[in-house]
Amino acid sequence: MTLDALVSKYRFETEIYVSRPTMPPLERFHESLEEIWRSRWLTNGGAFHQRFEKALGVYLGMPHVNLFCNGTIALLVALQALRVTSGEVITTPFTFPATPHVLHWNEVSPVFCDIDPLSFNLDPAKIESLVTPKTVAILPVHVFGNPCDVDAIQGIADKYGLKVIYDGAHAFGVRVRGRSIAAWGDMTMLSFHATKLFTTVEGGALVSSSERLKTRIDFLKNFGIADQETVVAPGINGKMNELQSAWGLLQLETIEKEIATRRELTELYRSRLEGTKGLTLGTETLGVDRNYAYFPVLVDGKRFGMDRDRLFEVLKLFNVFARKYFHPLCSHFSTYRSLPSGSPDRLPVAERVAREILCLPIYGTLEPEHVARICDIVRSLAQSSPAR
Ligand SMILES: *Cc1c(COP(=O)(O)O)cnc(C)c1O
Repeated sequence: MTLDALVSKYRFETEIYVSRPTMPPLERFHESLEEIWRSRWLTNGGAFHQRFEKALGVYLGMPHVNLFCNGTIALLVALQALRVTSGEVITTPFTFPATPHVLHWNEVSPVFCDIDPLSFNLDPAKIESLVTPKTVAILPVHVFGNPCDVDAIQGIADKYGLKVIYDGAHAFGVRVRGRSIAAWGDMTMLSFHATKLFTTVEGGALVSSSERLKTRIDFLKNFGIADQETVVAPGINGKMNELQSAWGLLQLETIEKEIATRRELTELYRSRLEGTKGLTLGTETLGVDRNYAYFPVLVDGKRFGMDRDRLFEVLKLFNVFARKYFHPLCSHFSTYRSLPSGSPDRLPVAERVAREILCLPIYGTLEPEHVARICDIVRSLAQSSPAR
């Protein structure tokens, strides 16, 4: 079949984006708004903030949680709280720009380390050779909610006395051997941005390993203010407001259903795309409760018949808007390009994955028929296109 014929057969009437938030029931949010209108308490640790912070801790099974206005400020504050404010931090180039940027803002040099070809996370076997006397911490990312090799990373951190701060922006609700993924490392950042699995419109949280750290973060996210006349640290404004907190409380009620729905859609994708020549699908890891936040595939251009960039463009003709998460690598940005660790020959796996990765649409309100149709499209494109 020609491309034109495929397009007229399979094209969606309306755009299918890579992600779409599942909205809380409007009348429930309206009830929360009425409460906020009555109290006129809009931010600064109000009733909704207190309720949400507590409920989130219970959901995660982690007692030390701080809510934030967004995940980036949370990560910025995490480094401040752990005094990671000079030297070098080993991190991944295969991430969202916020990850290396928070290092830059804290006057720390990122040192890019290559990734594992299956999990897309920092490859622990490659971390150790990058440790220098200047290294102060490791900042790994649980990419697409796949847990990093947390035991190996902790082993290296213990050996060299390094802090471990996880960017868990993708990892909400993920559990390893029955425990929250946020139980590993000194701190874990969660993002509640509108594109994420769990959202408060904008928002985020830090999960830390001690009450002492939580208290320090409470000061740092509120200008360092201890009371009306005492400022104990050079803090910032990282507070989550009452509307976001109210939204978050409602999201908590439906998050398990959201994950279950995405799991079904993931299984559908897998069953329909398995065996497509040139496509590599993710795998399940033993002992991990995944969150199914993303559906990434690797496109081997030669075997699939068209490369990732072409597939990305052609899918748009069908009104399917996939995303190249994460392309280009952060090591290619002008800010980081001159770093020796960012040179492409030192990051062969990350370079290839960034070239081949494509995230297909997945979200709780996506219909199974839509997933089936996206799979039909991808499979027909694989078959129809001449090898290049
Ligand atoms: C979304 C995201 C962030 C930033 O979170 P915000 O809440 O948008 O500030 C950081 N790291 C990764 C990996 C992300 O995907």
